Amino acid sequence: AKKKGRNNFQVYSDKLHAGASEQLALLSALNFAMERQEFSLAFQPQVAMKDRRILGVEALLRWHSTELGEVSPGQFIPLAERSGLIGEIDKWVFREAARQARIWQDEGLHEVVISVNLSASRFDEPDLVENLQAIAEEERIAPGTIELELTEAVALQNPEQALITISALREAGFRVALDDFGTGYSSISYLKRFGFDKLKIDKSFIDDLTIENATDVAIVRGIIALAKSLKMATVAEGVETEEQWRSLQELGCDEVQGYIFSRPLRPDQLAELLSHS
Ligand code: C2E
Ligand code: CA
Ligand code: CA
Ligand code: CA
Repeated sequence: AKKKGRNNFQVYSDKLHAGASEQLALLSALNFAMERQEFSLAFQPQVAMKDRRILGVEALLRWHSTELGEVSPGQFIPLAERSGLIGEIDKWVFREAARQARIWQDEGLHEVVISVNLSASRFDEPDLVENLQAIAEEERIAPGTIELELTEAVALQNPEQALITISALREAGFRVALDDFGTGYSSISYLKRFGFDKLKIDKSFIDDLTIENATDVAIVRGIIALAKSLKMATVAEGVETEEQWRSLQELGCDEVQGYIFSRPLRPDQLAELLSHS
């Protein structure tokens, strides 16, 4: 048994080693990604359920590493958060999204709200709101056309600071949305105090949403009722099927973001789509 135990340890430690060196390679490549201009943005439409009109687009970061190829945000964002690179990355994303919004407006395309993800770790950043305001001003974008997507993690770390920052963001004219709703721990009283404009229902509640699935229907119905009572708009994330769409329509969800309407698109593809709407 002892021998087996040692062998197991060997295997375990090899795996651990491989994992760690993989993370290290990822991190060192990530360190250079910005200066090598390996980042780009994709934009995914958010559409009104009632008429399928595009109301907004979410900016999603894409990383094409010269060494590692395409790396998904699910892989590198958590690493960027742990290593402290996320501040610089999110700042780049915000400016790039604002710059892109300016280009679309100059092209005379129908105006849409641009949603940008803001990592919870940036809530410690002094002058966060002033910095975002300055960038929007430099790119000549009205704060009202930018929505910041925050997760429940912002409330978890330091609720009092989060409250102050969110109020300041809204006072500056930015919209704020609560991302991945239902996956965190925020209480209903937080929701009420924070005053989000929009609530994004996490994909995990949408995946098995069919009229027959009583549990998920009840959960989503509850989330929508809660949002309505707090005067927040609702967006369902990760909608892929007609059946999910119909269920959400029956439940009175306001907007949809998902493959059923469009995958995240390159800026030129989105411009093409907007020019026909
Ligand atoms: P998220 O903010 O929840 O973004 C939605 C994710 O769901 C995106 O994945 C999008 O491509 C995907 N998605 C949308 N519709 C569908 C669908 O119908 N089916 C399926 N299977 N997936 C769908 P993506 O782009 O891989 O991003 C993953 C996560 O990485 C994001 O989740 C967000 O948490 C993070 N992320 C992406 N860009 C940024 C960024 O600029 N800054 C920060 N801090 N985080 C980012
Ligand atoms: Ca998001
Ligand atoms: Ca989300
Ligand atoms: Ca998510």
